[in-house]
Amino acid sequence: MVMSVERLFSRQCPKSITGDPSMFRKSANPMTGEDVLGILGQVQHREPLGAAVLDAQIAQDKNARAKCVGTLQAYLASTGVNDNLAFALAEAATAEVCDSPACKKCHGTGSILSKEHSKFVECPRCNGVGRYIPSQRELHQMVCHLLPAEQAVTRYEFNKKWYDVYMGCVDKLHRAAGQAGQCARVLLDGMDV
Ligand SMILES: [Zn+2]
Repeated sequence: MVMSVERLFSRQCPKSITGDPSMFRKSANPMTGEDVLGILGQVQHREPLGAAVLDAQIAQDKNARAKCVGTLQAYLASTGVNDNLAFALAEAATAEVCDSPACKKCHGTGSILSKEHSKFVECPRCNGVGRYIPSQRELHQMVCHLLPAEQAVTRYEFNKKWYDVYMGCVDKLHRAAGQAGQCARVLLDGMDV
């Protein structure tokens, strides 16, 4: 592979990384900035939601993040969720997937020193993911904070009815990002011929 998906979405074109030849395989036709934008355009066209997730995650693109929230909100509204709750759930799910703050316990490494300080073990707070994963209680607070006070849902109602809907949104974004990444990889491999 010529270039990683991560690098593609961070728009590191050849000019800006002249000092880092490792990202390019020795090739008669190295990728140009135009190639990068061309591939991104194709991924955005084929996998609009997934490309938006990757743009929000990797390039911290505000418009792409807003597109994720808007897409989820419209999807939830189409299933009969009221507008305010659809927005709150969409915003919270997008925050979990796209904002990706590092886990406070392991500082994003996914592992911590065991009690005996002899070896590293999987971080129990984030299960080795390295990102901060909000608890169900924190999620409920976040969603209520995003709702008009008179529409706040009880913790019981959130856990019973909305938590699964929320997780469905998180899955939807992760799946879309996976598909966009796959699409980008195929296109990048195609450049390598
Ligand atoms: Zn952790």
